[in-house]
Amino acid sequence: MCTDFPNNNMTFKETSIDEHPKSKPMSETLTASGKRDLMNIRVSENFFLWEFVPRNILYRLEERALLLIDSRIIEVAQYLRKMYGKTFINTYGIKGHLQNSGFRPCDAGIGAEFSQHKYGRAVDLKFPETSHAIIFKQITTGESIQKDLYQLGARRLEDIEDTPTWIHIDLGEGKDVIENKLKVFNP
Ligand SMILES: [Zn+2]
Repeated sequence: MCTDFPNNNMTFKETSIDEHPKSKPMSETLTASGKRDLMNIRVSENFFLWEFVPRNILYRLEERALLLIDSRIIEVAQYLRKMYGKTFINTYGIKGHLQNSGFRPCDAGIGAEFSQHKYGRAVDLKFPETSHAIIFKQITTGESIQKDLYQLGARRLEDIEDTPTWIHIDLGEGKDVIENKLKVFNP
């Protein structure tokens, strides 16, 4: 249950979540002082782990925070990054305030109760170089973009009327899924 999936009082046991033992980190960059640089854990060509998880989770789980993210949503974000250039998800790593644009803990206090964000299957993408309305239109009317995104696992887009300054895309399955099409939904 959602309320049993805590943030501050996370009860994961090391043995159950630690698929990337600390002795062999998935990707590690050391700072000048010899500490692991958590802001430099890369998860795709253009994205870092911090862009998908809140700061407190990153600092608590370190590279194991990747287990909270469905890898398909990283591929979806990377596909759109290639297509539309610079893309922001979380921004706290670049002195912004956004930290719930990828995985969103149940106690974040924003968004829908059972949002796909809470399962690590959604991202809110901000594109500073292209209009969100244009991107939304191209995705919803472009057969090949939709097919590519569908094949990567994407299933839904939130209606641009409700998200004028970002693109919400997620992996949420439903009975009404049509192959190679993305469903536009309202919250
Ligand atoms: Zn969203």
